[in-house]
Amino acid sequence: QASIASIKEHDGEIKSVLHVDEEGALAHARQLDKRLVKGNEELGLLYGLPAGLKDNLVTKDIRTTCASKFLANYDPVHDGTASKKVKDADAVIVAKLNMDEFAMGGSNENSGFFPAKNPWNTDYVPGGSSGGSAAAMAARHFYFTLGSDTGGSIRQPAAFCGVVGLKPTYGRVSRFGLVAFASSLDQIGPVTKNVEDSAYVLQAIAGHDEYDSTSANVEVPDYLSALTGDVKGLRIGVPKELIGEGIDPEVRDAVLAALKQLENMGATWSEVSMPHTEYAVPAYYLLSSSEASSNLARFDGVRYGVRADNAANLIELYKESRSQGFGPEVKRRIMLGTYALSSGYYDAYYKKAQQVRTLIIQDFNNIFADYDVILHPTTPSTAFKVGENVDDPVKMYLEDICTVPVNLAGLPAISVPCGFSKNGLPIGLQIVGRAFDESTVLRVAHAYE
Ligand code: GLN
Repeated sequence: QASIASIKEHDGEIKSVLHVDEEGALAHARQLDKRLVKGNEELGLLYGLPAGLKDNLVTKDIRTTCASKFLANYDPVHDGTASKKVKDADAVIVAKLNMDEFAMGGSNENSGFFPAKNPWNTDYVPGGSSGGSAAAMAARHFYFTLGSDTGGSIRQPAAFCGVVGLKPTYGRVSRFGLVAFASSLDQIGPVTKNVEDSAYVLQAIAGHDEYDSTSANVEVPDYLSALTGDVKGLRIGVPKELIGEGIDPEVRDAVLAALKQLENMGATWSEVSMPHTEYAVPAYYLLSSSEASSNLARFDGVRYGVRADNAANLIELYKESRSQGFGPEVKRRIMLGTYALSSGYYDAYYKKAQQVRTLIIQDFNNIFADYDVILHPTTPSTAFKVGENVDDPVKMYLEDICTVPVNLAGLPAISVPCGFSKNGLPIGLQIVGRAFDESTVLRVAHAYE
């Protein structure tokens, strides 16, 4: 009830929420209350916690639109694995959250319905694409939210909104029931107010799943016991490409201050190099758009969602449904991806981007041979103004420089708040770990926080 009241009272301006399942949430909460009264049943790890889920996570009987007009009427008949796991852990799904359409964007301004705003200052964007998940946490509508991160979409909005966002290792959390954007990059993860909560939620959603063949059959450790507060002897690498030129001095100073704090706690750090960083954004946009062009082929006006009603034949039905259903950014990505995969251009673009991906993975491997974690800002600057970047997609893409390398390499990374800019907006610090070593990422973030 408190969660629903918070949404009603405070979300009018923030617009982090797309749909509230008031009836379903209250019924579930009442069921949970009964179990508490009985007292002899084991309660789940997330017992009674109100949650919000990004609207690209499929939820049984709760509308799931991906913030797209195309899916404006889509009510799934099943739960995705992450949705099911939070329910199995006794959390209550209260609402579905705003996002950039099909998770394409970094400001929430690509929502097909209305943009979410940054609760710290509503003249500014909350980030994206999981902007609703981060803004809702900053507004404290929920105890936790889930987002998805293909190129930074959990970490960047978490940084802009002053909350904690974790992208797990690729394969750590099942993608079954996450509407696919770029299948080789997408991961689901928690957005929370602190690191301990992040560990709880990851514990509940992680693990192998027979419904997702890319989910990893790797043991899930006890993340809570990793939160020791100890960073003595920890070796931190700080890539010079992500702390120097192009990073706002206020952001750099906040990150250097955080490094000082970790040093005082017994960690050491040195500057390292990721020489292929400058190619990460173009490689990411080629690969993610290529995969998107294929994944979004399923939206044909026949199988899901909204169907154009004035079409004379099948081809026209496809064309009309897609023309009317998709927003401009989604169309841009589909065109870019289709072009990159087309005969004659494949070698020059898609294949080359895959080769760059391998070089970036090697950059990470070289650093992790000598360091336990990599640390740098989550974003080059704090949140930008609503409208500031909308007319310049390339400028918007370049904002992703600190987050996309991690997705290309499939690594776990967290964004934690590390201070404020002079104009009162949160700054985010990013900690990147080895594959499947979320424990160390969480430990360092928790010790710092
Ligand atoms: N901003 C990036 C993009 O637009 C990241 C998106 C994401 O992680 N879903 O592709």
